[in-house]
Amino acid sequence: MGETTFCCVQCRLLQPPTAACAECGTPMVAPVELVRELLYYRDMKMVSGRDWAFITAMIAGGSIAFPVLAPIALGSIVALGIGKLRELRMRRVIAGIELPAPHAAANARTVIGTPHKFRTTVSSMIDGAPVLLEHAMVRDRGGGVLIRRSVGTSFLLEREDEGPLLVTGAARLVSAPVREVIDRHDPRLRSMGVPADLAIAGSLEIANVEEGGIVVAVTGVVEDETVAELAFHRDGGRIPVMRGVPGAPVLVEDRRLVGAALMR
Ligand SMILES: [Zn+2]
Repeated sequence: MGETTFCCVQCRLLQPPTAACAECGTPMVAPVELVRELLYYRDMKMVSGRDWAFITAMIAGGSIAFPVLAPIALGSIVALGIGKLRELRMRRVIAGIELPAPHAAANARTVIGTPHKFRTTVSSMIDGAPVLLEHAMVRDRGGGVLIRRSVGTSFLLEREDEGPLLVTGAARLVSAPVREVIDRHDPRLRSMGVPADLAIAGSLEIANVEEGGIVVAVTGVVEDETVAELAFHRDGGRIPVMRGVPGAPVLVEDRRLVGAALMR
């Protein structure tokens, strides 16, 4: 990945440069190299919008002297005391966080179907195989989330009784992952966009959605839109579209997990 990787300090999602996190919608996203000091803190909720404006102003000004400036910028961290700060700074590994629960939009619907390719597929971060959506996440030993990344593209959801639905925009995949233990030198961390010198180790959890793969339940707001590519076989290309936006991504869940949750 040649371009700058941004990191959301609230949900630890690595993503392309953006003004708001694709999943949680917070403006607390910045180049991962510049916010790495902040990844040593477990909870960024205490950082106010004003603090963040100050931090980003420092980033824009080219100052990356976070360890020194953090006590001034982050008023609430002062409460931890200088000793505690020093201790945090000495830690070798970044702190795991509890992943905030994804928010579906108020008027969201859940639709069930089988994912199919629309325009294209993307390459898996893990093995390069073609996928429609993939989520890779590293947890520490205590289960805290260290860092994660999603890749994906628009896809068609083929439904049983109705025509297809186009799923596009920000998406969050919730599916039973494949887990394996990794260390900080694992090359797959590089393809996720994790800086080589960021001390990360734990278990890597990978989940993906492939062409014609698992039946999924997608949740989001559905609106009819005109899609040029579909004009030839559908009324002027009007089809239902579920579009995820920053702060309200489309939730893509393994249908079997949804079923299990309902039976509990
Ligand atoms: Zn986020």
